[in-house]
Amino acid sequence: MDYQAILEEIYEEIQPELKRGKVADYIPALAKVEQEQFAMTITLEDGSVFSVGDAKKQFSIQSISKVFTFTLALDLYSTELYKRVGVEPSGNPFNSLVQLEYENGIPRNPFINAGAIAITDSLVTYYKDQYKTLEVIMNFVRDLSGNPSLSFDQEVANSEMAHGDRNLSLAHLMKSFGNFENDVTNTVMTYFKHCSITMSTEELSRAFLFLAFAGKDPITGREFITSSKTKRINAVMLTCGHYDASGEFAFHVGLPAKSGVGGGIAAVVPGKMSIAVWSPALNKYGNSHAGTLALEKFTTKTGVSIF
Ligand code: GLN
Repeated sequence: MDYQAILEEIYEEIQPELKRGKVADYIPALAKVEQEQFAMTITLEDGSVFSVGDAKKQFSIQSISKVFTFTLALDLYSTELYKRVGVEPSGNPFNSLVQLEYENGIPRNPFINAGAIAITDSLVTYYKDQYKTLEVIMNFVRDLSGNPSLSFDQEVANSEMAHGDRNLSLAHLMKSFGNFENDVTNTVMTYFKHCSITMSTEELSRAFLFLAFAGKDPITGREFITSSKTKRINAVMLTCGHYDASGEFAFHVGLPAKSGVGGGIAAVVPGKMSIAVWSPALNKYGNSHAGTLALEKFTTKTGVSIF
C-alpha cells in the first residue's frame, strides 16, 4: 500500500477543515497556539515512517500522556490498580466532578482527569517522591520515542496550575473518599507536568509503536509491558480514549486511540502500525476536529481498523 500517497491525499482533503473547531483556551498558554496547523505520521514494524505536514513540530501532548502513566502504573501494580480506578467509559466530559461524587471517589477510568490524577498519585506513592516520579515518566517516554532530550513545557504546566481549580477539586474529592495518598498540590503539579510534555507526530507515533506490537518495541526488541497488559491498555483506549465521544470515535475510526486538548491523537493498529496526528482546533468534546477526521479518512482509505 502506498501510505505516503494516502497521507498526501488526506492532507489535501483536510485543509478546509483546519478553520473549524476551536483551540483549547481554558489553559491560557495553549490558547496562543496557531489554529491552522496539521501533521500526521505513521510508523511501521520495520521502522519505516511516513509523514505529512509539520511532523517534526512539537506540541503539548496533554492527555495522551495518560497512556504512558497508565502503562507504568499497570506494570507496577497489576490488578491492584483497579481498586483505585475503573475501566468503564464515563459518558461524561474529561474533567467532570459529579460522577466521582456518587461513585465514592473511584474514577471510572484512567483516561479521564480524575483517573489520570489517581494514577499519578499511585506512581508518587511507589517512587516516594514527586520529582523521581516525573523523572521516571520522562525517561519512559524518552525510551519509547527514541529521543533522549524530550522535555515538558514549564510555562504550560504553570498555566494549568494557575487555572487548575477543577483538577485540584477532583484530587481533593478523591482524598475525602480515601482514594488519594500524597500531597494534592504537588501530585497535581506532577500530573500537569506530564500533560505538558511536548512531542512531534514523528516522536509520538514512534512512542506508541510498542502498543501495536504486544508491548514490545519491534525496532529495538525491547519489551516495555506484557502482551496481556497491552491488550488491556488498547481496550481502555478504544472504550475511553476520547471521553464522552469514545463511542463515536470507535464508530467512525475503529482504532484504539488517545486524544489530548493540545490537538494530538495517537492511535494503534495492532500488528501493523502506530499513527499520530495533530491539529490544534478541538471539537466540542475536546478532541482534535481535523485529527479525528484525518484518522477516519485513513481507516476508510486503507481499510485498516480493528473491526
Ligand atoms: N492537562 C489537561 C487537563 O487536566 C488534560 C486534558 C485533556 O487533554 N483532555 O485539563
